Amino acid sequence: EIAAFLEKQEVRIIDPSNSNLRPVIQFSQLPSSTLLSKKPFASFTSPTPIQSASWPFALSGRDVIGIAETGSGKTLAFSVPCVEALASSAKPKSSKNGRTAHARAVIVSPTRELAMQTHAAISSLAQLVGLSAVCLYGGASKDDQRALLRKNSGADIIVATPGRLKDFLSEGAVSLESVMFAVLDEADRMLDKGFEDDIKLILGSCPPREKRQTLMFTATWPNSVRVLAESFMVDPVKVTIGNRTR
Ligand code: ADP
Ligand code: MG
Repeated sequence: EIAAFLEKQEVRIIDPSNSNLRPVIQFSQLPSSTLLSKKPFASFTSPTPIQSASWPFALSGRDVIGIAETGSGKTLAFSVPCVEALASSAKPKSSKNGRTAHARAVIVSPTRELAMQTHAAISSLAQLVGLSAVCLYGGASKDDQRALLRKNSGADIIVATPGRLKDFLSEGAVSLESVMFAVLDEADRMLDKGFEDDIKLILGSCPPREKRQTLMFTATWPNSVRVLAESFMVDPVKVTIGNRTR
């Protein structure tokens, strides 16, 4: 059944650790957890191929590279393991320390629109387990975003565009020292848009790669993205959907 699924959906999984994890073809095959017991997928019949193949690895703590087209369901592919990782680890006493918001997860997106869409999707999962998510992007008031960061709930998850997040890091409004889960979404587009240095600064502000989980999603697999993965990930599992040469 799994072999047929992999072939039909054109799923390729390259796992340098040769773990025997298998795709999750039905939602019912996911491990039980506080988040998943709240039935977050009530409106969907089954996982998309990128979700099927990524979840077992990402939920087990592995770094994952996901290569799949737009519209393939990548947001939930990383949002589910992200919220799960935070929900199942002890929350520090205060995710806020004076005027600095200490995020435990960071998701970097290339555009304001994508950041907002991702924030909407991950917020609804986060709310199910009492976690908060804040969206930071350029072209909008910094004061309003600072106010969101300072709210009592703090910001367990930050979804941000690179430039605005860099600004908040340098002024000390955000700290990424407590990040356990980092996501680069649309990594190829972020590099195309010239965000390489910002991404390096952002990941460099997180704990070292051995002490966090890092996921990277991209539609294409050019050398520039490969180099980024090599410097910021640990033995990543590479999941490719579709028959295009990437
Ligand atoms: P991508 O990031 O790969 O471009 P998105 O994560 O934005 O794709 O998802 C595209 C659309 O598919 C969204 O409207 C989302 O709600 C929907 N979607 C996500 N997962 C599923 C699923 N398992 N079944 C049906 N639709 C889904
Ligand atoms: Mg996306």
